This record gives sequence, C-alpha cells and structure tokens, in this order.
Amino acid sequence: MYTTILLLTYFIGVSMEYRDYTNYSAWSINTSNRDVIHRLHDTEGVTVLSVTSQVGVLVAPKVQHKLKQTLHQYDVAYDVTTDNIQEEINKERSQVRAKRSTSFTFNSYHEYDEMVDYLEELSRDYPHYCTLLTIGHSYENRSLVLIQIGDGPHAVWVDGGVHAREWIAPATAMYIADKLVKSLHDAPHHPLSSLKWYIMPMVNPDGYQYSYHKDRFWRKTRSQHPGMAPYYGVDVNRNWDYQWMMGDASSNLSSSEIYAGPEPHSEPEVKAIAEFLLNNTDIEVYISLHSYGQMWLHAWWSADQSKSDIEEQYVLGLKATQAINRTSGKLYILGAPGKLVYAASGCSQDWAMAVAGIQYAYTVELRPTWELGAHGMMGFMLSPSEIVETGNEMFAAVLEVSYHIHNKWSDGPELSPHTDWIYRQNAANCISLCNRLTIIVLLLQIYKNILNTYS
Ligand SMILES: [Zn+2]
Repeated sequence: MYTTILLLTYFIGVSMEYRDYTNYSAWSINTSNRDVIHRLHDTEGVTVLSVTSQVGVLVAPKVQHKLKQTLHQYDVAYDVTTDNIQEEINKERSQVRAKRSTSFTFNSYHEYDEMVDYLEELSRDYPHYCTLLTIGHSYENRSLVLIQIGDGPHAVWVDGGVHAREWIAPATAMYIADKLVKSLHDAPHHPLSSLKWYIMPMVNPDGYQYSYHKDRFWRKTRSQHPGMAPYYGVDVNRNWDYQWMMGDASSNLSSSEIYAGPEPHSEPEVKAIAEFLLNNTDIEVYISLHSYGQMWLHAWWSADQSKSDIEEQYVLGLKATQAINRTSGKLYILGAPGKLVYAASGCSQDWAMAVAGIQYAYTVELRPTWELGAHGMMGFMLSPSEIVETGNEMFAAVLEVSYHIHNKWSDGPELSPHTDWIYRQNAANCISLCNRLTIIVLLLQIYKNILNTYS
C-alpha cells in the first residue's frame, strides 16, 4: 500500500510539471535498415520523430553515448542537428503566448476548448450551413466533435489532431472549416453547395492538451489499459482494425511511440470515428491531416496493395498537390507511404478504404519539408505565422477534391475550380518572387530525397 502511494505520488508529481527537454538533442540518422529503425523505436530515451530517407530522432542526454555506440556498431552515419531542444520549445512558447488574444485567431495555436468554442460560434452564426456533432468521448471524457458543413448527398471527410504533437494539423482543419462555412454563406447557390463536408479538427484531444501543457513531443492518446503501467497512450494511427499489428512500424510495447494498443479499436477515439465512417456511407473521400514532410500519401500503408485502384487515387492526389502548388508555391510529394516514408499496419487510411469502403483515402503530411524540420526549427514546431498559408493551400486541395466528387455525380457540364470565384479568392494569396526561389531550392532537395529513398 505504502509503495503504491509512493508510486502514485511520483507519477502525479511527474505529470504535473511541463516536461523539460534541456540538453535533449535532435539527430538525423542516415539509415533505411529496418533493424536499426526498430531498435530506435524501442529504445527508451529515444523518440523517433520522422522516417524518410533519414530518420529524425530526439535523444535524451543519458542515452546519447550509448546511441553513438549502437550506430557505430551498425556503421550508420548521423548528424546532431539541434543541441538543446528546450531552447526551441521556449522560443515556440513565447511566440504562442505573444499572439494569444481573447478571441479565436489563425495566427496562434489554440487549446482544445477554444477550438470547440469557435466551432460552436460558427454553428450559431451560420446555422443554415453547418451543424456541430458530438460523435463520442475521449478516454479523459472530452467531447469528440465534428462540424458538418453543407447537406448534400456526397461527402468529403477531413480530420486533424491524430498525433498530439502535430499542432499544425488541427489548426489547418479549423481553417478549412471556417473558410468553407463562410464561402458557402457568401455564395449559397454555388455548385459545391450540393456537397457535404465532415471536418473533425481534433481526433485526439487528450493527447493534444497533454502536448500543450505537459510534454511538447507527446504523440499518442492518454489511455492506460490493464498491464500498461507505468506507460500511457496508444498510437491512434496504429489502432485500426485492418491488418492490425501485422507489419512494420507497429509495436506491442506500451512504452513505444507506435504502440498499437492491446487490441484493435481499444481507443474510444478510434471506435467513435469508425462507427461514424461506417454509418455515413455518403463519405467518398477521407483525408487525414498530419505533419510533417509536405507529402500527399495515397494507398496503401500496409504491405497489402492488392485492393484498390491506385491509378485513380494517384490522379486525384496529383490534382490536389497541383492545387497546393498553384496557391502557395509549395511542393507536396505525391506517393505511397511505403515508398516515401515507411509501411505501417493498423492505419486509418487503409481501414477507411478496405473496411468502410471509401473510394479515395489520403494521409497528408503538412509543412514543413523534412529537411527544414530536421535542420531548422524542429518540424512539429511550425511557426504560427504559417497557419494561414498552410490553411490556404490545403483549402485549395480540398476544393479540388470536392470538385472532382461534384463532377462525378453531376449531369451538368464539368466544372473546374480554376475559373471559380472561391478558387480565385484563395489564389489571391499567390506565389511571390520569394516563394519561386524557395520552390527551386525545395525541388533540388526533394529530388535528392527521392533519389535517396529509392536507393
Ligand atoms: Zn502523424
């Protein structure tokens, strides 16, 4: 009993403080060796942040020496890209604090309650164009809300906030919802009003709040199932009941960042969304926003690639990435996860296609590019000054996808977003000379990246 109280006091004590990353370093590891990547995932004190042609990791001071030895043993090269992560976190916190205001804005990262309040405000101010729905509750009993925009017979789903530390994803989903509602209000007879959108900005509110207040790099939910102690949380994007725990990049260790959970759909967040997707057969496109890497990923995450028309997925993905490029000049690489990042099982995108029968399903990795994330400020800490630009480019992509669905079902002439007023309004935020130079630099980086990935 005494030991239990001591342990409880210890864990409560630890959880009350903001996690300190002083002298934690960011490393860029040059490997595609699966044994090495598995070992990194399962090493306590090492947090895998991204896997592309390089593996980005966060390393606790106490394991730095041991990790160097391990990498040396495997003959793997690495760079230490940032020495003291806490300095980056402090910078971000002061930026967010400086921009906070009493009303909801798109120049700062907001807490979950503030997002829900704003969605409520939208549904009060524009009742003809949107409705707020609660589809379940998180492990810590937060409402899982989504905003339904429009009331047409064919729907597009967009979600964000799956992984807690990817703050730009919920901010972008909020931006898209806001812009869609206001665009429909301004043009009620617009052809796109024949569609419907379900936008769920925050899939994992418990994890997000934990990242906001306790640990900036938290990724998972905050659940604790029997046998998990002292660890918390399941990776929401490994918990889906399609090829669950059947491949790489999933772990059955509760300490792991990619813990798949004790069973499929163990997480109330996953269960609630799965039920919604199954019950709403009008959903034709599933888009899940993540960060980072600037990638538009089409089927499949799992090794099984036999069940879909990849060509159609690719063609619509190409249109979406071109719309992004026309809007902001940013390049998003299009491809299958197995080629661009890594194969994984139990992912929502695969479940949406294979089980819910949704025709098009994508996972989008938002800004920045992997290189900028690794070598500049850490990728998950995208400056809040980029929320509006990221929102605009993704709004253009969602419009492009929406037109595709509209044209598929419409008897009338095919409509193009390129001549449409909503698109033109969006394109007002168009490519500056500075962005054009950025494109050239990024193109060179991306070609280098692709060459490395396939080698
Ligand atoms: Zn993610």
